[in-house]
Amino acid sequence: MELIEYMKASKMLEKYGIKSIRSSYVPSSLEAVKFAGANSIVLKLLSDKALHKSKAGLVKVGLLGKKDIESAFRELERKGASLKPYKIIAQEMAKGGIEIIIGGNIDQQFGKMVLLGLGGGYVETFKDTALRICPIGKSDAEDMLNQLKSKDVITSNGSNSKMVVDLVLQVSRFFSESDISELDLNPVMIRKDGYDVVDIRMLE
Ligand code: ADP
Ligand code: MG
Repeated sequence: MELIEYMKASKMLEKYGIKSIRSSYVPSSLEAVKFAGANSIVLKLLSDKALHKSKAGLVKVGLLGKKDIESAFRELERKGASLKPYKIIAQEMAKGGIEIIIGGNIDQQFGKMVLLGLGGGYVETFKDTALRICPIGKSDAEDMLNQLKSKDVITSNGSNSKMVVDLVLQVSRFFSESDISELDLNPVMIRKDGYDVVDIRMLE
């Protein structure tokens, strides 16, 4: 099983209508500053040797301005010395929201399964997740969402339920039709009026 690099994974998802936040590999801090323009950005170090980036201090959020970006970039390069080969990626900052996880994996008994749950740092704490065998239909995706204790928080009391259901369906369709053996979008940051996929882990 091999990790698919981030930008390729993001393009594969896009073909199924799943949009990831604007991202770009940045070979230098100058490129990162250019990417940011006047906006705040996130820098992350991606390496097969570090799967939990934030735990290892490899995710720098809310970087604003040249000085801030340059010092974060240097710090990532220092940490990267023992994590080669690595790439540094710049991302737009997501505009807040609640973090969910949408994932897929292959179960020995049931085959491809899709998962929806509360995401980010809460996955382990609350274990609020729903699982179904692929492929799923609209009513299955609705049931998955309804099953979650955190449903009202995720959907802003129902106002974006359709968006979440559609997204789960798109992910399930992608996973069913691809040769991917494992998929984690964690987190997808969900707002009342939209979503941002900010972390993708995909195994071939
Ligand atoms: P990992 O899961 O490997 O620790 P993530 O890429 O998921 O790394 O980042 C960790 C956390 O940082 C996310 O759960 C989210 O809270 C925050 N984060 C990451 N990328 C962004 C982004 N583009 N905008 C805003 N917050 C982000
Ligand atoms: Mg993550």
